[in-house]
Amino acid sequence: MSSLFEKKIQSLKGVGEKRSKLFIKLGSPTVGALLRLYPRAYEDLSHPYSILTAPLNEPCAVRASVLERPKETRIRGGMTIYTVKVTDGASDMILTYFNNPYIMTLLKENEEYIFYGKMNANFLKREMSAPEFTRAAVCPAVRPIYRQTQGLSSKMIENAVKSALELLPDAMRDPIPEKIRLEYEMCHLHFALKNIHLPDSMESLDIARKRLIFEELLVLQLGLLRLKGRSRTVSHLKLISDYSSQFYPLLPFEPTGAQRRAVNEALVDMMSGYPMNRLIQGDVGSGKTAVAAALCFCAVKCGMQAALMAPTEILAQQHYASLKELLSAAGIQVALLTGSMTAAKKREVLGALQSGEVQLIIGTHALLSEGVSFQRLGLIITDEQHRFGVAQRAALASKGDHPHMLVMSATPIPRTLALMIYGDLDISVLDELPPGRQKIDTYAITSEKRQRAFRFIKKHIDAGRQCYIICPMIDEGQNDMASVVQYAEQVRDEWLIGYPVGMLHGRMKPKEKEAVMAEFSQGRLSVLVSTTVVEVGVDVPNAVIMMIENAERYGLSQLHQLRGRVGRGKDKSTCILISDAQNEEAVTRLKAMCATSDGFQIADQDLKLRGPGDFFGQRQHGLPDLKIADMLHDMSVLKQAQEIARGILNEDYELESDEHRGLRAEVKQLFDGMESS
Ligand code: ADP
Ligand code: MG
Repeated sequence: MSSLFEKKIQSLKGVGEKRSKLFIKLGSPTVGALLRLYPRAYEDLSHPYSILTAPLNEPCAVRASVLERPKETRIRGGMTIYTVKVTDGASDMILTYFNNPYIMTLLKENEEYIFYGKMNANFLKREMSAPEFTRAAVCPAVRPIYRQTQGLSSKMIENAVKSALELLPDAMRDPIPEKIRLEYEMCHLHFALKNIHLPDSMESLDIARKRLIFEELLVLQLGLLRLKGRSRTVSHLKLISDYSSQFYPLLPFEPTGAQRRAVNEALVDMMSGYPMNRLIQGDVGSGKTAVAAALCFCAVKCGMQAALMAPTEILAQQHYASLKELLSAAGIQVALLTGSMTAAKKREVLGALQSGEVQLIIGTHALLSEGVSFQRLGLIITDEQHRFGVAQRAALASKGDHPHMLVMSATPIPRTLALMIYGDLDISVLDELPPGRQKIDTYAITSEKRQRAFRFIKKHIDAGRQCYIICPMIDEGQNDMASVVQYAEQVRDEWLIGYPVGMLHGRMKPKEKEAVMAEFSQGRLSVLVSTTVVEVGVDVPNAVIMMIENAERYGLSQLHQLRGRVGRGKDKSTCILISDAQNEEAVTRLKAMCATSDGFQIADQDLKLRGPGDFFGQRQHGLPDLKIADMLHDMSVLKQAQEIARGILNEDYELESDEHRGLRAEVKQLFDGMESS
């Protein structure tokens, strides 16, 4: 098999210079890679229906023979319709094809075919529009459908795959050791490759698929476990006592049980004598900031410095304001470091940080810059982890001597998946919202109802509440999409005349952003028209309406984050999604938003719709693209694969033995592909 990865795709019959470029575009520059380009779907032709029993409006196979020669009818606009009457002996149906003269010669009278397409019916007749067909005598049981690209149809890919399969040696080696293959009842790779492309039957396809999923996850696990081989360094930063009971009275509220639990779990880590490596997952509004504050407090009380890194300037400022208020009451020195500060101010902060005078530093990526050094960095917290790469976390950590690390994420993901992605992080979950939170009513409306939405907004502003309106980026407002600047003008001049309306977008200077945000949080602005810069973390409890224009543009998790900006106080809050999109995926997403407010369910759904690759962004989660396995649906196989991978690595960490050589090549294949993309 591995030698086929050296064979160029051009070496296949029918693949010339031009077509090979298309194959390369699809990700298969070699014969081996083509064999690993699995079909995206299949047509089951093995049990064709009769005309009367075929289900309506869903793709299905029907067996019928051609009753009479196709008829040709010219219609307006130079179009030609070809109609064909077919029968299964008991009933008839009509097939129609547009502008396809070949139909005249391809479909022969009295010949029997398997037609594949969607059946429509009214009380007079049944019909199919442009079904695919194959002569029944030579029809395969299952036909593969490949992801096609301009100039390269599924059929062409199928033909290339056919010739590639002929090159597979009968006695090829299987990378999965025989022992494991037999124990877990997996078919041989030869059978799997043949049947994933050109299955003998649906049963063979299942067997092949099962084996390939298993193989892919096994290879993935081997790679990940090797990448993340945990190094347990003894920590010089062991916490000696637990000061949390001194912290809680500083809070203006009673911590939730989940918050206390997360703090305790983290403190146990920090007192263990090893560096903490913990992920806190909590839905938006679950109160992660208070947990971070508690841990910073405890670290500082034990003589360490702590750093809290946030992904945006607005968020850093907000954390700074609230933690300073909370912790300076206890005599803790808190400072802010962001890129927009003056050089003089930065120098001052950096000096105080190096001398140890500043005990808690809050900042953006600016914390990573070279000039930043600590006297005794003991705890690093990164907020909204999905915005930071593993490398950035590591860069901050290198400013101390194996400091404790806490990662906070508002993107709740299933636990098993989290374990896979964050590798050896321990996980705490904030599965409880602070008391008194009300459900946020969510509505999806079309732009026709915008006027009504504004009347609703007016009513709430008059009652003293505030509102966010999200619209696309400045400059991005092409076509009919409102850009934030024009939109804000329109709100001021037409929809909410006389009300204080502010505007926020990424191109503004940090000082300007800060000023607008401050005005909004002090209640001096009733409405904030903004791009998604308010997406993460911003906390203004008096804001009760979140209206999102062109809501179809955003992913589910992002919509959920945006919605999480409201519903933070005691007042009933509402989220209004405006969208005229009709496509199925967008509609599904908006429906999901209206149906649930549970971040875990939303994340689950988002993962299903987009797949883990898009969900996290490949660079950030550090996982290669999977070709056949789906980490959510194949969770049980994933676990199994993890165990087996552990066993293999215990025995042969380098995968050097003859029996593991094939796996080693596959690990390389999978993870190399990741780096180059
Ligand atoms: P997130 O988890 O989204 O970062 P925050 O830490 O911003 O959430 O907290 C959301 C809001 O809830 C803040 O206004 C915070 O003061 C408040 N809050 C946090 N914990 C509690 C609690 N235990 N009881 C009441 N309010 C709380
Ligand atoms: Mg937060």
